[in-house]
Amino acid sequence: MDRRIFHGNINPNDIAHALMAEFNRGNMHAQVVGNKDKIAVQIATRMGTMSGGHTALTINIQKVEDGIMTEIGQQAWLGVAASLGHTAISALRNPLSLLGRLDDLAQDIESMQLSEKVWKIINRTVVTLGASHALSDRLTRIACEYCGSANPLGESNCLACGAPLGDIHPTTCFKCGFVVTLDEVTCPNCSQKLR
Ligand SMILES: [Zn+2]
Ligand SMILES: [Zn+2]
Repeated sequence: MDRRIFHGNINPNDIAHALMAEFNRGNMHAQVVGNKDKIAVQIATRMGTMSGGHTALTINIQKVEDGIMTEIGQQAWLGVAASLGHTAISALRNPLSLLGRLDDLAQDIESMQLSEKVWKIINRTVVTLGASHALSDRLTRIACEYCGSANPLGESNCLACGAPLGDIHPTTCFKCGFVVTLDEVTCPNCSQKLR
């Protein structure tokens, strides 16, 4: 499961539209399932009955505080893996059997590159809308417990009343956008080393 979080003024629908525009054409078929805060976009190849049925990806897009979370579902890879496995076995038994499978293989490999392509479209859309992996302005402020004033992250005392603000200084993983605390050494979401 590949999961990324984007912060800013962005909605699941923005991503769904961009994915539909890109993938619901040619030998690809895409559909949107769900409502406005929780949407799944399913992308499938039209052909490929010989390569273990549809090779498909499901992209889950969910509204979260401050932005959206996107995930590419893992079940998508089963079709591809099973198909390549079948090819490997039949190629061992009869090398010539591979010839008839070349078209299907090309299809499978195209599907493997699909998730990379999906992330590209998502990233492009996110950039266009001004969102990113970094926390948005709204969340880079913490409210003082005592007087309620908003303070920029990193301040140890409230600028208005001087009360201590504690150690809550959330930041994000630069690779996937997951919200992490300053004392975390690796990202709990993608295992990226944070320092
Ligand atoms: Zn205060
Ligand atoms: Zn991460």
